[in-house]
Amino acid sequence: MAAGRAGARRVGTARGAAVSQIQGTPSTPRRSRRRKSVAIAYEPGQGDGAEPQRPRWEPKHWQEQLQRIREMRRSRDAPVDEMGVDKCYDTSAPPQVMRYQVLLSLMLSSQTKDQVTSAAMLRLRQRGLTVDSVLQMDDATLGRLIYPVGFWRNKVKYIKQTTAILKQKYGGDIPSTVEELVQLPGVGPKMAHLAMNIAWDSVSGIAVDTHVHRISNRLKWVKKETRYPEETRVALEDWLPRDLWREINWLLVGFGQQTCLPVNPRCSQCLNQDICPAAKRP
Ligand code: SF4
Repeated sequence: MAAGRAGARRVGTARGAAVSQIQGTPSTPRRSRRRKSVAIAYEPGQGDGAEPQRPRWEPKHWQEQLQRIREMRRSRDAPVDEMGVDKCYDTSAPPQVMRYQVLLSLMLSSQTKDQVTSAAMLRLRQRGLTVDSVLQMDDATLGRLIYPVGFWRNKVKYIKQTTAILKQKYGGDIPSTVEELVQLPGVGPKMAHLAMNIAWDSVSGIAVDTHVHRISNRLKWVKKETRYPEETRVALEDWLPRDLWREINWLLVGFGQQTCLPVNPRCSQCLNQDICPAAKRP
């Protein structure tokens, strides 16, 4: 995905030091000369008392499968590469306007082909796409400009509501946390993570859409079959190294658009055919 601008990353903190305590040592024990035992308690993960860490689960063959998907995606000619959300905003606009355009294109993109989103964004941008211009636009005009994106009537409503919130609460910018982004009408977790990535250049989580969800299940990159993209996101984040979280979205989305199609995947053309649990073999 395209690089964005200033972004802050969270840094984890180390756990505290081991704790030891001496239990039950009353002064001058007259009746017994036996010394009381000394109990030493350790925090888990510290010192000799630490439990050995269990090996982390990871899918069989995943590194090889990933490498082969990179190979299949080398030409970068899937619709997402040419017309994805990170290609829809005006790179010469002020940063705040760019971030708003990123969020808007994400809202338009749900249940919509990249080509349709891209064309709608172009029409909007020709009118000058800013928070103020959208607030001044009447619903009928906005609907006409974004048609035929999926659920365009609902999206008119959500865009208007979200844009008004951005104006009132965020000074016309978009929020910079996933928690705040998902509070906006019409913005789900996948959009929020992509917005963090593209608009704020911050990797907050894996953006899982229907392609990432489907392919992760076909390749058995999830420990147990998952039913929803959010479940898949949690399952992937459990084992996939964090430095791959940004790459995995565009890799799998394009792979899903060109080869691992929702219906009738092109297994005979897939380099993973011999190591894919879902491969359809002749
Ligand atoms: S072999 Fe078929 S199902 Fe498996 S990843 Fe390739 S295209 Fe998808």
